[in-house]
Amino acid sequence: MGLDDDLVYHADILIFGIILIFALANLPKVYARFSRSSGWSEGHRLHSVVPRRSMNPAINCNPPISYPIDSTKPSFVDLESSTDHSLTACVSLPYHPGNTRMNDPYNEKELPLAPQRLPPPSYYLLHSAASVLRYRVHDNYSIGQVLLMMLYTSIIFYVSFYKSNPFTDPHRAGFVIASQIPFVYALATKNNIIGIMVGVGYEKLNFLHRLVGRLMVIGANVHFLGYVYKWSLDGVIYKMLAEDFVRWGIVALVCFDLLGFCSTSFVRSRSYNLFLATHIVGLNVFLFAACYHEPACIPYVIAAVVFYSIDHVVRAVKTRIATARLRPVTELGITRVEVPSLNAGWRAGQHVRLRVLSSSMGWWGWSEVHPFTIANATQTQEGMVLMCKKTGRWTSSLFDMAQTSSYCESGKEAGRDVTVMVEGPYGGVGHTVMSSYSGTMFVVGGSGITFALSAVQDLIRAGEDNDVKIIDIVWSIQDPGSLSPLVTQLASIVERSTTARVRVHVFYTRAISTTFNGMILPRGITLLPGRPKLAKLLDAVVTDTMSAGSANGVFVGVCGPVSLANLTASVVNGFDTRMRTAVGGVTFHEETFGW
Ligand SMILES: Cc1cc2nc3c(=O)[nH]c(=O)nc-3n(C[C@H](O)[C@H](O)[C@H](O)COP(=O)(O)OP(=O)(O)OC[C@H]3O[C@@H](n4cnc5c(N)ncnc54)[C@H](O)[C@@H]3O)c2cc1C
Repeated sequence: MGLDDDLVYHADILIFGIILIFALANLPKVYARFSRSSGWSEGHRLHSVVPRRSMNPAINCNPPISYPIDSTKPSFVDLESSTDHSLTACVSLPYHPGNTRMNDPYNEKELPLAPQRLPPPSYYLLHSAASVLRYRVHDNYSIGQVLLMMLYTSIIFYVSFYKSNPFTDPHRAGFVIASQIPFVYALATKNNIIGIMVGVGYEKLNFLHRLVGRLMVIGANVHFLGYVYKWSLDGVIYKMLAEDFVRWGIVALVCFDLLGFCSTSFVRSRSYNLFLATHIVGLNVFLFAACYHEPACIPYVIAAVVFYSIDHVVRAVKTRIATARLRPVTELGITRVEVPSLNAGWRAGQHVRLRVLSSSMGWWGWSEVHPFTIANATQTQEGMVLMCKKTGRWTSSLFDMAQTSSYCESGKEAGRDVTVMVEGPYGGVGHTVMSSYSGTMFVVGGSGITFALSAVQDLIRAGEDNDVKIIDIVWSIQDPGSLSPLVTQLASIVERSTTARVRVHVFYTRAISTTFNGMILPRGITLLPGRPKLAKLLDAVVTDTMSAGSANGVFVGVCGPVSLANLTASVVNGFDTRMRTAVGGVTFHEETFGW
């Protein structure tokens, strides 16, 4: 074995070793998930089972803004007089007779905290380190991600430059590129072997795919230019360019440069189809070209082909063709997609990739696949529910199509049936078992409510198997009218929870002309103007969780725009260390809709 082979071989072993360390660190979560029977049946493949009683009351797509109130319960908010943007303004808190140890919202008296054992100082150190790693620095990358990228880049640079100079030894860059082929392909797949090992979805590893891809594009150009320079000096440039293996090398380089250029956000945002087409053609042609260019690439290409093929087989297995019912939710600008024939097989927070097979989506509409988080729990009558916010061309076509719904005799919208292709489920909270925490807080923005809905319904359905005592949903919307279509569903969630206390805080940001005098909300739901004071809300969740006598940690999940995720991350990072420790830790998870 030469130095080049030796170096890249050891670099690959090192990278694999790092992945293994993350996988080992994840083992306790894997054990916690798969020691429950649901860990095996949920989160892998969509299917159908006999439904339980539905937790989602039929959605009212165009309901009035006020709701009936049970006058025997003190649960209303009069927004006209409620200008105080603080927690004390949130008056509609539910009371569950089963939760006798819970903080009584109408009682000013502080309940004694459950006795806590103080952990060793190393615990504080670990939490501080985790907070630092989550801190966002540049372009929404966390310090942890930046460190990981720096580590990867350093390994690649080390093997590229160790006892070598790209101008005198362009051969080395070629070896380095070849060694990265399996990683860049594995990281690009939806059923990602690396993601499975470390317990995160493909979408969360995409930053590494982009990094490795960019390093390979740079390496390929250095490799080519180095040889052009060398052959020019030796006077053999024309002779060499006529060689077959060099021509195949140029084909591979063109593939790389095309992939690199068309992956820039400039091209992707202007022409996604160009990005997609160059990726499909480029990644396939490259594999052939690499083998003809340099037979030493063959083992790496085989590894990439294995990852790629397995991914496509699993994708086919995970794909379902079904009839979906589309309904427009006008206030939210959302299309509600119900797939009754698929009602099981996912975990809260997971998403599916949706393709609509209808000419109403335009000439190329059928070719587009878009990801959407599943908005409800499994085993319900209405099946899988997606809420697709009208943001761009495709989602607008979907909304327009939903608006052509038929009406039933009662005048209610019956929805429009359409054939869809659903692939998934993917992503979500990995191996984390939300029901093992003592408290949960879901911070969601706009259509990010889908994440909270499915997670909370799942937690409530778990009933006695659920350790969660406190559930808070903090939903930011622009227009308070957006609450209307979901208020019945949210109220039902609050009412049905017997083992946990559920609160829903809705915040709206847009100035409105509507008068809210006398507007009444179901108990457990509050509506306030302005942005949520997340630090205060988190503090309340942690305090209530401890008052409920539990200290298995608090799970904070955020779903929505990147800015909301950043804000929540900074609140979790800055949270009081002693309180964090006393409650058993605060786990942060984010689902952002950015690409
Ligand atoms: C994991 C995940 C979960 C999500 N969950 C939800 C949810 O529950 N509810 C919700 O409302 N939104 C969700 N989104 C966002 C949703 O996927 C986008 O809003 C939707 O894809 C927008 O498509 P558009 O064409 O209408 O918008 P555009 O603004 O036109 O496109 C938005 C993005 O779609 C991609 N895109 C464009 N053309 C194509 C194509 N031909 N094929 C594939 N992709 C293309 C591009 O990356 C583009 O940047 C989620 C996103 C992710 C990543």
